[in-house]
Amino acid sequence: MTKKVTLRSGLLLLVCIIAVAGAGCRAGGSNTNAYETHDFAMGTSITQRIYGGNAQQAAREVIDEIKRIEDEMTINKPGGEINKLNNSAGKAEIELSEETIYVLEKAKHFSSLSGGAFDVTIGPLVKAWDILGDNPRVPGDEELESLLRLVDYRDIDINREAGTASLKRPGQIADLGGIAKGYAGDRTVEIYKKHGIKSAFVNLGGNVVALGRKPDGSLWKIGIQDPRSSTGDYVCVIEIEDKAVVTSGDYQRFFEKDGKRYHHIIDPKTGYPANSGLISTTIVSDLSIDADALSTATFVMGLEKGLELIESLEGVDAVFITDDKKVYATENIKKVLTFSGENRGYEYVEER
Ligand code: ADP
Ligand code: MG
Repeated sequence: MTKKVTLRSGLLLLVCIIAVAGAGCRAGGSNTNAYETHDFAMGTSITQRIYGGNAQQAAREVIDEIKRIEDEMTINKPGGEINKLNNSAGKAEIELSEETIYVLEKAKHFSSLSGGAFDVTIGPLVKAWDILGDNPRVPGDEELESLLRLVDYRDIDINREAGTASLKRPGQIADLGGIAKGYAGDRTVEIYKKHGIKSAFVNLGGNVVALGRKPDGSLWKIGIQDPRSSTGDYVCVIEIEDKAVVTSGDYQRFFEKDGKRYHHIIDPKTGYPANSGLISTTIVSDLSIDADALSTATFVMGLEKGLELIESLEGVDAVFITDDKKVYATENIKKVLTFSGENRGYEYVEER
């Protein structure tokens, strides 16, 4: 028996963050009306809350832009630049837009920075498991072994000056699933700014970006969901302005077979869903594209290596939750974090 759980969990994540941000807005007592929209794109729910004159037009432009990015970067439907690159694997160098080159370069950078825990060439494994698709399955060991040989981010060759890229070997597949929503978050903020908007909030299925502060001058409150709650409770709230907050977890997208849960973040060393001891990783940074790649990377790396990586990066912070219900945060985020998970058995480890 196979059970698939995707959208429902994504919606819960959304509700959690909105509820907290919403409560914060009301608590602030602001009279400024927010324009709020809910859409579906990039396989997830998208909520925008915008304050300011051109809100409606900006929101519409954002959704068009996100759908355009999805079309160019997805491997789940035909057409698009990334499919073009993948179809030419082992055969030819492909001309790509500046935008796709930028996202590929970022993806390759974080692949290298994480020692291959994030690997942009994870595609053959993602396709074999098909966790987000119609026929999720557990591939056999021999199949995984042969597919693992195709996974190596160093085989993506990018030539920025020429505007071209290539994959070295036939069968290799670049997959931007772990970073493209982050890029879309950054583009969203650019569109808000272009429309003169100074206060807004977007949530692309767990990829949150907050522009400015709330209209009453207070900080945005972002709830980090209890990864084991089915009712959208959160374990802590962080207060931010002008930041991206991106969470990866094993509870958002997975399928179950024979009582086992198989989630959608694959460890490029084993070919299996990552089992690092972390069940939720949240990254806070200026750029949403960076936060997205790093949340996926640290989810695979685990607590020690993940913290070491995040602490080595300027302006990047993290909140990690382990499978034994411990919550860890980096120094800067500790100052703006309110822990509330004790009722559900979580422990906040302030001193390591
Ligand atoms: P979500 O897309 O649910 O927000 P993530 O940002 O963590 O979650 O991205 C997960 C997606 O990234 C997977 O669906 C897959 O397309 C891709 N992916 C899975 N494992 C890896 C990995 N080790 N490195 C890079 N991308 C990955
Ligand atoms: Mg990610």
